[in-house]
Amino acid sequence: MTSTAETPTETLPPQPPALLPPWHTPEREALQLQARRFAMDEVLPVANELDPQKGEIPQRILERLAELGYFGITVPAEDGGLGLGVFEYCMVSEELARAWMSTASILARSQGLGTALADADRRRDLLRRSARGEWIGAIALSEPDAGSDLAGVSTRAVLDGDEWVVSGRKRWCGNAKAADFIQVLVRERDPEPGESRSTGLLNLLLEKPRGEFPEGLTGSPIDKIGYHGFLTWDLAFDGVRIPRGNVIDEAAASDEEGAEARRAGFAQAQLFLNTARVHTAARAVGLARAALEDSIRYLQEREQFGHPIGDFQALRFAVAEMAAQVEQSRAFYRQVAHLLDLGVPCEKEAAMVKLEATEMSVRVTNQAMQLHGGNGYTTERQVERHWRDARLTTIFEGTSEIQKRIVSDRLLPRSPLA
Ligand SMILES: Cc1cc2nc3c(=O)[nH]c(=O)nc-3n(C[C@H](O)[C@H](O)[C@H](O)COP(=O)(O)OP(=O)(O)OC[C@H]3O[C@@H](n4cnc5c(N)ncnc54)[C@H](O)[C@@H]3O)c2cc1C
Repeated sequence: MTSTAETPTETLPPQPPALLPPWHTPEREALQLQARRFAMDEVLPVANELDPQKGEIPQRILERLAELGYFGITVPAEDGGLGLGVFEYCMVSEELARAWMSTASILARSQGLGTALADADRRRDLLRRSARGEWIGAIALSEPDAGSDLAGVSTRAVLDGDEWVVSGRKRWCGNAKAADFIQVLVRERDPEPGESRSTGLLNLLLEKPRGEFPEGLTGSPIDKIGYHGFLTWDLAFDGVRIPRGNVIDEAAASDEEGAEARRAGFAQAQLFLNTARVHTAARAVGLARAALEDSIRYLQEREQFGHPIGDFQALRFAVAEMAAQVEQSRAFYRQVAHLLDLGVPCEKEAAMVKLEATEMSVRVTNQAMQLHGGNGYTTERQVERHWRDARLTTIFEGTSEIQKRIVSDRLLPRSPLA
């Protein structure tokens, strides 16, 4: 059983104009309010009901996300999207994660994902479907023996006439069965001596019917401790056939035009990774905010020693520290999202904000559980869900250690001895 206490729809706190950040606009405030209302009124009750059952995001929530245009926030308006930026994408995702992290995550399976094909007509058609919520995917990068070290991917793709034939194992593929497509990272050839270990890797687009696995692909769901809302799969590819033209991010051609497209594909991959990190930071902020808001309500409700426990200074100070950390991480992710929208290269900052915001989320949700006392350690309250989901954010999309590696490598070049 989860708590029956409903969190009322909140309005944005009034801010004097002098305190508004430089990126504030009335349009963004309206979008945030819309997302907040939807999250609190429509998503939160579903999360409270389905998360304990390890259920999946229901069709009606997917339809509402599509109606609101959230699957295509970053898709250009001429392709049917909202034509907005990483900033708005992350802002909406914070609101959704406040209610149920997986609804924020499903947005990352659209936004034009799985559309970067060399064929311009197909690309445009898929982009339009993506914006409408009719092209929701899954990403199969990780393998049983290749997680942080993706250059170690061993799933093979061999050309046979006009098709790739794919065989190997993938692990942790979220949404694989429910998806319209799976983006699969495969090895086409081994690197030659002197080439980097990632040479020979490419992403293939596997189109499939929703709710089914195509011929040659089998899967079994992994029993996770949180992040319910969609299933996460172990996948076995046994001779799965994919059309030769379904190469994502890289043009298959080897002429000058192809080389140009490959460069564009690499830049796009960098933008994708940086955006994913900031998006994870925004989700982590949403979870921490949920824990903070639930804690404030609980401190007013719960009485001990003849007082609401919110009168005890130790707990009041804990709330102040939690709130300050949430604000700090929010300001940081918005700054990096703003830089990404301006086209500023910010790989280091994206890794920093992913690291900081996710670690903050673990601390704040943990503190929230403490503030709830024994009730926090039950499934009667939502705080345990926020804590379980926050715990994942330091692991997926690159662990905290990998983010530290990225940041330190940018700040401190290794010596030739390393
Ligand atoms: C619920 C869930 C959903 C996921 N969804 C997806 C998905 O949809 N698609 C997908 O492709 N993947 C997905 N992942 C996989 C996720 O990205 C990986 O779990 C993550 O990258 C870590 O890889 P690993 O689990 O193999 O850990 P490992 O790489 O084995 O790491 C184990 C430990 O070693 C540390 N470590 C590793 N290398 C270094 C190093 N060089 N320096 C310092 N420390 C290091 C790590 O930080 C970690 O603490 C998901 C994972 C989970 C748990």
